[in-house]
Amino acid sequence: MPILEKNYWLETLTTPPVQSVGDLPENIDVDIVGGGFCGLSAALALAKHGVQVAVLEAETLGWGASSRNGGMVLTGIKLPVPTLINRYGREATRKMYAASLETIDCVEQIIRDEKIDCNFSRCGHLEVACKQSHFDGYEESAALIRKEFQHHLHIVAKSELRAEIGSDIYFGGMVEETSAGLNPARYVAGLAQAAQRAGACLYDHTRVEKIQAESHNGPRKFLLSTSRGPIVAREVILASGAYTTNATPALRKKIIPIGSYIIATEALPPDLARELSPRNRMIYDSKHFLYYYRLTPDNRMLFGGRAAFFPEAENTVRQSAEILRRGMIHVYPQLRDAKVEYVWGGTLDFTLDVMPHAGKIDNMYFAAGFAGHGVAAATWFGTKLAGLICGETDATPFSAIPFPAAPLGLRSGHTWALPLAGLWYRILDLLT
Ligand SMILES: Cc1cc2nc3c(=O)[nH]c(=O)nc-3n(C[C@H](O)[C@H](O)[C@H](O)COP(=O)(O)OP(=O)(O)OC[C@H]3O[C@@H](n4cnc5c(N)ncnc54)[C@H](O)[C@@H]3O)c2cc1C
Repeated sequence: MPILEKNYWLETLTTPPVQSVGDLPENIDVDIVGGGFCGLSAALALAKHGVQVAVLEAETLGWGASSRNGGMVLTGIKLPVPTLINRYGREATRKMYAASLETIDCVEQIIRDEKIDCNFSRCGHLEVACKQSHFDGYEESAALIRKEFQHHLHIVAKSELRAEIGSDIYFGGMVEETSAGLNPARYVAGLAQAAQRAGACLYDHTRVEKIQAESHNGPRKFLLSTSRGPIVAREVILASGAYTTNATPALRKKIIPIGSYIIATEALPPDLARELSPRNRMIYDSKHFLYYYRLTPDNRMLFGGRAAFFPEAENTVRQSAEILRRGMIHVYPQLRDAKVEYVWGGTLDFTLDVMPHAGKIDNMYFAAGFAGHGVAAATWFGTKLAGLICGETDATPFSAIPFPAAPLGLRSGHTWALPLAGLWYRILDLLT
């Protein structure tokens, strides 16, 4: 079978995607730009509070990163804890780490309440060390996390690593037991169904082209011009992730869109699958230019990485298949003859400081910068933004941190310098 350039997760959907019902209303309480985890979880929470809400999605619901990712529901923040403490201090870092644990509970709660059939399982994650120096850092990190946050991660010496992974190339590992795995396409489809059931209006194929703030001797409102016509809203949530467009230039300037690619093999014999990942963990390595991988519920090896740094396009997807296959065989020589059946790509929303951010920009609510932690974080931030609109006062610990603009050349729409950033990370991987 030739490799299919399509997203394996979408093949596993058991219900047709939610589609628009009816025309856009003229007025609404809240408009949400973007129908991924963030926008849909915000819509679900708002609708449950009786707020009239419309989700405006340029493509199909869940079309963006939310249906294309590895399905790893990860604790922690992309940056290592010592870096966070140096940058933001102990107290702020403690709150951020606690929030990162809450994000997983938030996903689990929604899945349970809304009965979303998406293979959610608290299987834990394993980080594997590509160098001895990386492994040496794990002890220090785990001790710091235990002391500061009373959260336990356990270290796996190289001699014991076979109990966790069927590969001999690593120098040891670190396991976190509360992370989870799920099928992201089923999860985002279930979120859309739940939001619609709760009363949210969902509009696919509705691109927001322009947003203008208006106040004619009255309260401020927003006029959104869309490909389906105009709509006026009291509040707006920007949940457009890495796919943020010129309709919201102030936010777009802050997003660094980075391509990430995934292959999926044929379904493997159960014994081989168990050998590769005996505890079925979500696995990623310690490099900057990292690989992440896991088994699917039907025992395919799903293997991802930043094979190209550019956002996905037909040629980058095709080239990535072979680069990732070579990477997979380096980790798992047992997969030398396994057929790769799928390849696809998506775009991650990075920020210059590699942190998630949320708050207001041009008077509109936003959350972005989830990088490779968005399955849990985007869901959590969406519900938090809904809470703020409904009058809750506790902002997230990420709301107060400065949100730097991305340098020209790395910004969405102007990504000519991305290969240089990629090269820089490859050099760092050689040196550190
Ligand atoms: C290949 C890949 C692997 C990943 N793996 C993981 C992982 O294993 N674990 C993890 O935690 N995270 C992972 N991530 C990151 C995670 O998927 C994202 O952080 C998360 O899905 C972001 O959700 P979101 O709702 O913010 O954005 P998205 O899901 O990207 O949704 C944004 C939506 O906004 C729409 N939009 C944009 N502009 C407009 C407009 N003007 N009008 C209307 N609609 C608009 C887009 O069409 C898009 O559908 C991965 C990402 C990729 C690409």
